[in-house]
Amino acid sequence: MALKGAEIMKMLPKTNCKECGYPTCFAFAMKLATGGANLEDCPHLDPQVRAQLEAAMAPPIKLVTIGAGENALAIGEEEVMFRHEKTFFHESGIAILISDKESESDIEKKLKRIKAFDFERIGQKLKIDLLALCFESGDKGKFEALVKKAYETTNFALILICEDTDVLFSAASLCADRKPLVYPITKDNTSAAIPKLKELGVPAGVKGQSIEALTSVTSELKDAGIEDMLLDPGSKNMLEGIRDQTLIRRAALKKGFRPLGYPTIAFPCFMYQDRFKETLAAAALMIKYAGIVVLSQAEAQFLLPLLVHRFNIYSDPRRPMTVEEKAYEIGNPGENSPVLISTNYALDYFIVSAAIEEANIPAYLCIKDTEGLGVMAAWTSGKFNGEAIAEFFEKYAMADKVKHRKLIIPGVAKKLVAELEEELPGWEIILGPLEGSDIPKFLSEEWKA
Ligand code: SF4
Repeated sequence: MALKGAEIMKMLPKTNCKECGYPTCFAFAMKLATGGANLEDCPHLDPQVRAQLEAAMAPPIKLVTIGAGENALAIGEEEVMFRHEKTFFHESGIAILISDKESESDIEKKLKRIKAFDFERIGQKLKIDLLALCFESGDKGKFEALVKKAYETTNFALILICEDTDVLFSAASLCADRKPLVYPITKDNTSAAIPKLKELGVPAGVKGQSIEALTSVTSELKDAGIEDMLLDPGSKNMLEGIRDQTLIRRAALKKGFRPLGYPTIAFPCFMYQDRFKETLAAAALMIKYAGIVVLSQAEAQFLLPLLVHRFNIYSDPRRPMTVEEKAYEIGNPGENSPVLISTNYALDYFIVSAAIEEANIPAYLCIKDTEGLGVMAAWTSGKFNGEAIAEFFEKYAMADKVKHRKLIIPGVAKKLVAELEEELPGWEIILGPLEGSDIPKFLSEEWKA
C-alpha cells in the first residue's frame, strides 16, 4: 500500500454521504489505506481519480499466476527486502528443464521422476512446481510433441522457452488454458508478441540483456494492456544474479519504480554445468529474490536441500509453525494405550509423534493449542497449565478413551505436576523423558513395565 490515509482523503469527494458504509470520507480513507475497504464502495469517485488511486494503491510488485487449477503458482506481491522485516509471502517456484533434444526415453524417465517427487516436512508438502520446456532441436514438431506430452500427462504449470516467436506461440496455443509462461519476450519480438499474448491470455517472461533493457519492454507491454510479466535481467552467473535481482527488488519496493514491479525468473541451469554450483546459485537466488528458479535435473540429493531451504525462507517469522489441536491417535490405540501430551508447536508434535511411531506402541498424543509456543513458554504464558490441560481432557473426553488414569507429560514440565494433580484428580501424572529421542526407550521399558 503506497498511499497513506491522509493522502487518499485528499482525493475523495469529501461529502460524508455515508454510502460507502462508513460515517465519513476520512474513515473510508483510513480503511482503504489498511486494505480493509474497496474503492468500488464509493459510488461518487471521479473515474480519473479512481484510476489514479488504483494505480497508486497497487502492490509495488505485481502478483502473477502461472498455471491453472490446484498446481497454479502465484508469485510476487512481496512487501519487504528482508524476511525479518515482516515475511516473504509467495515462495519461489522450482522448475525443471526438459529439452526437446533429449531422447524420448530420457524425457519419459525425467517426467516420471518429477511426478514421483513428493516429500512432506513438518506437515508441509515439498514439491516441484513447474516444467520448463526448451526448444533446442530446431524441429517445431518435436517441440510441440514435448509440450503436448507435458500438458496431457502432467498437471504441472509450464514454462515454454523458445527463441522463435512463431514456434513459441504455436506451442503456447496447445496449452493456453494451462496459462504457460512464454519466454523470452525481448525488445526484438515485443511487437509480434503483443497480439498473441493478448489473444492467448498467457503471462510473458521478459528478457533483457540488462535491467535498463528490461524496462523499455515492460513499459511497452504495459501500455498495450499486458500486466502479467516475469523479469529476467539476463544474469550470467550467481553474482550477477544476486546483483540484478537485488536492484530490481529495491527499485520496485524502495523507489516505487513500476516498470520493474514484477516478479522475476532466474536460470541457474544455464549459468553452470556443475550441479553443485547450479544448486548453490539456485539457493542464493531464492534468498535474493527470484520468483522462479529453473534447474537442469530433478535429483533428490540436490532438490531436497533446496526445498527445505525454500521452506525456511518462506515460513513466517512472526508465527511459529503449528499443528491442529486434537487428540491424535497414533497406531490405532486402545483403552490400555499410553496418553501423552504436548503443545501444538509443530516441531514438538513431529518429534514426539515420530518417537511414538519408533517405539511401535499405539498411543494417544494430546496436542494442546498453545499458539505455537513450546512447552515452557506456553506454561509461563498460561496456555499450557493445569487448568488448560484439564479443559482439553474434558473437551476431547480423554477419560472415556482409556481405562487407566496415567498421563505422560514432557520431561521439561516438572512444574506442571502439582497443578495437574489438582486439576485432574484421579490421574497419575508421569514425567516423561527430557529428550524426545528417549521417548521410544521410555515407552518400551517404563510404560510396558
Ligand atoms: S461514499 Fe464516497 S463520498 Fe460518500 S462518505 Fe463514502 S467516501 Fe465519502
